[in-house]
Amino acid sequence: MAAAFPPPDMPPALVARHGSCSLLTPDGEVLTLPTEDALRALRDWAPPLVVHAPLTARRMRLQSPSHLPPWLDLLELFLFVLPGRTIPPTVRGLALALGLDEARIGAGEADLLPELADILLDHATALRATPSGEEMAALAVRMARAGWAWGAPVLQALGAAHPLPPERLQPGDAIRVWRRLPKWEETAPRPAPSNHPVSAADARRRLAEMLGPQAESRAGQADFAGAASAAFAPRMVRGDPHMVLAEAGTGTGKTLGYVAPASLWAERNGGTVWISTYTRHLQRQIEGELARLYPDPAVRRRHVVLRKGRENYLCLLNMEEAVNIAASRPGASSATVALSMIARWAGATADGDLTGGDLPGWFGDLFGRGMLAGIADRRGECIHGACPHYQRCFVEHSIRRAREADLVIANHALVMAQAAWHAMDGDGATDEDNVPTRYVFDEGHHVLDAADGAFSVELSGLEAAELRRWLLGAEGARSRARGLKRRLDDLVVGLPRLEAPLEAVLQAAHALPPPGWSARLSVVLSAVPAAAVAAVPPAAHSEPDALPPDAVLPGAALPMVVKAESEVALPNPCERLLHVLACQALARSAGSGGTDAGGHRPGGPMPGAIECDLRPLSDEAGPAAAALARALDRLAVALRTLVERLLERLEDDTGELDAPTRERIEAAIRTLRRRALSRVEGWVAMLRALEQTDGEASGGTPQHVDFIRLDRRDGQRPGEQDVGLHRHWLDPTVPFAAVLAAPAHGIVMTSATLRDQNGHGEAGRDEPEAAERAWEAAEARTGASHLPSPALRAALASPFDYRQQSRAFIVTDVAHDDIGSLAGAYRTLFLAAGGGALGLFTAISRLRAVHQRLSQPLEDAGLPLYAQHVDGMDNATLVDIFRSESNSCLLGTDAMRDGVDVPGRSLRLVVFERVPWPRPDILHRERRTHLSGGAPGEYDDRIARLRLRQAFGRLIRAGGDRGVFVLLDRRAPSRLMSAFPDGVAVRRAGLRDVAQEIEAFVRRREGNPDAPA
Ligand code: SF4
Repeated sequence: MAAAFPPPDMPPALVARHGSCSLLTPDGEVLTLPTEDALRALRDWAPPLVVHAPLTARRMRLQSPSHLPPWLDLLELFLFVLPGRTIPPTVRGLALALGLDEARIGAGEADLLPELADILLDHATALRATPSGEEMAALAVRMARAGWAWGAPVLQALGAAHPLPPERLQPGDAIRVWRRLPKWEETAPRPAPSNHPVSAADARRRLAEMLGPQAESRAGQADFAGAASAAFAPRMVRGDPHMVLAEAGTGTGKTLGYVAPASLWAERNGGTVWISTYTRHLQRQIEGELARLYPDPAVRRRHVVLRKGRENYLCLLNMEEAVNIAASRPGASSATVALSMIARWAGATADGDLTGGDLPGWFGDLFGRGMLAGIADRRGECIHGACPHYQRCFVEHSIRRAREADLVIANHALVMAQAAWHAMDGDGATDEDNVPTRYVFDEGHHVLDAADGAFSVELSGLEAAELRRWLLGAEGARSRARGLKRRLDDLVVGLPRLEAPLEAVLQAAHALPPPGWSARLSVVLSAVPAAAVAAVPPAAHSEPDALPPDAVLPGAALPMVVKAESEVALPNPCERLLHVLACQALARSAGSGGTDAGGHRPGGPMPGAIECDLRPLSDEAGPAAAALARALDRLAVALRTLVERLLERLEDDTGELDAPTRERIEAAIRTLRRRALSRVEGWVAMLRALEQTDGEASGGTPQHVDFIRLDRRDGQRPGEQDVGLHRHWLDPTVPFAAVLAAPAHGIVMTSATLRDQNGHGEAGRDEPEAAERAWEAAEARTGASHLPSPALRAALASPFDYRQQSRAFIVTDVAHDDIGSLAGAYRTLFLAAGGGALGLFTAISRLRAVHQRLSQPLEDAGLPLYAQHVDGMDNATLVDIFRSESNSCLLGTDAMRDGVDVPGRSLRLVVFERVPWPRPDILHRERRTHLSGGAPGEYDDRIARLRLRQAFGRLIRAGGDRGVFVLLDRRAPSRLMSAFPDGVAVRRAGLRDVAQEIEAFVRRREGNPDAPA
């Protein structure tokens, strides 16, 4: 049974750290060597065993291990043998998952790796005679041929050899996993839910049942459940939902608190409650907590569904295409290995979620995130009922399961998009989801941000070009984009009433930027004044593709000054407007007025974006916008006609259409409306608004904020910038209230930080007026103030004793603008805590600079350092690693500040580099002017306090936690200190004193729990 790895040829093993490596030599000796020496030694040996090859290579300052023979990455072996499980991608994470105890793992040196390989190969051997073993053998044959380093050891462990006997599963069939997946069955539509209420007493009772008799009683949790039940009362007036605003301090147990009334309501009424979160992490956490209500996983799967946008799921048709392409290209060996891994996972996954589900987040680190994007349903090209895999499709299955579930766990973005689509579709004929009537918004403090994203409009080069690709297909480029004609052909062919509008859509789509627009934009910007483009006669504008797509100036960087050197015609109306907008943004950012969203002064290095006000418009912008509005109007009319004719076909051909064809037409209508028509109509409305004179547009409180943004997006090379016209709601809770809240029957809006504590201590305790203002601000941020009836307010204090469990300091002697001092301060504090430290930054550049100076000294002290934006791992993976270790340190930005849940010793120190003021961009300027009630300074303070509260909230997650919060910004005003919970006194002190306090509070107390606090 034992696979006995690694004999007979013992490979070396390698664990890389910052600047040094733990190395197991082929002779079985364990060495700790400087990186350079380890690299020299490895050149003469067989490829080593590693855990996370890309990270190992980065730590050794290798661009990639690809120029070396392939390393034996144990994570790949884990993925292959035990698919559908996630672990922190470290030696320790892997060892714990494979059942090794702490004592055996120790510091996770290289000599542990052969043992881990042996355990995994033993697992494979144990599966030899099962269908899983047969699948592994077939896939391993294919992968070994593609050069997978584990191919031979796995085949040996499985007792298989190429060629496989003909009666066994063959490699070509094994990778075509869609043939083996179970089919879902269609069910009758669910009736609308009834309206029986849930009383507070019922909710408390359900909570007690879920917790069981042994659970400690938490009064705040029961009160929370009772208060939340008010959102499940029958609605009395259309457009007037019951809204409960419930602030629950950390540790209240609010998840089960709202699950109690929500699950009761769903059971009594045959309906579904949608629970919405802002972060992926919380979605999975809630799903885990529901094991209290449904301990049996099969029952839980029936009652609870986790829903995300379609782009998160594996599309089997895209996978089939990718498999076929890989098979036809002999050089596509890495794609073959990656797709084989996906085939293994697809057979084991619970729901096909590629992002944050049971596919480890580090899959993308190992095989490339582009690969995952290519097999997700990301391009909006689903052909629904015409797809040969429709009845096995993960996306469709998840949508159907959600219709039947009691509780659906979704995210704010999806929930808002769904409500907006429902409002747009109107007739409801093509809804794929049963639109919920009851919602719980967890992380309710993010509703405003989520609504801002959901209801804004962006007309940029990338957005417009993406729509063109969706409508016209690849247009000769090396892309698998299918285009509308190919997707709809069989639905419209031979039907002139449908063929004509489809043709009109395709014609009108040529107004969108043709391939090569981005490079042309860069070239033109470096050479032409806006006036020259405006001078092009109108006739030339209607002639698409007049500029060759290859008119590229390689590596051209976007200049800060527009040069007038030649005249170039931009015939495409969209490209022309983009050019005019870019010229305006550059012209106005050179001296003043432009805002660099990365926090850098315009004119300096440009890591992020330049924004500028749209008004006053440049002379060229009005005519260019009008021309594009006319062109897009033609596209909108054609799209609308196509949608109407498809709807007519649904009505007229009722008797002739079979169910799959009906479904396809409904899906086509849905995607045409959502993906194309709504976008084009939004653009036209935005462009038409430009026709107002500046005088008309100014004065009074605006409804929208319009601005131009020039930015460089992730993954683009210099010279591939984008420019766009942006329209945001001044107050995004207005559309949120209109399209989601008002049509609902009941909403629970909850968070630990709904209110700003702007008085002394707990809002409301000392200053009733301040407390009232805090509630009113919370109502404004959540949209409650736009509803007819007032929200029911509830506030449950945290059960934690912050006075005893925490300390907070402002360090007074660190020069905030000196990276060396900042890095030194982080080093001192992290060492004082002995790790278990989270460092938070407000700028990526400072995070990187500090990381560079910090990694070696921490490594020397035995404290592993991980960092967002540096380690190339996704945030969830970084947090998983951090949580699994007790002495590591983690650096991060906003995403780490909100929503990271690390209870216990792993997190005992949070260090924030500076006050998290709101970014001074145009949107913020307008909001602080118009939404602050005449007190813009207080508006800024409130945002900063809420962010500090969120950051502090990471520290104490359980009753036994102890931790210290440090702000390295001596300029921090005292008026912000009410951000911290009641009982936490913030002290100002020098770095040395703070370090000593940390050591005394966090470390010595660990050895002596009875020591005085
Ligand atoms: S139905 Fe759509 S999403 Fe599902 S596999 Fe087919 S094309 Fe992909």
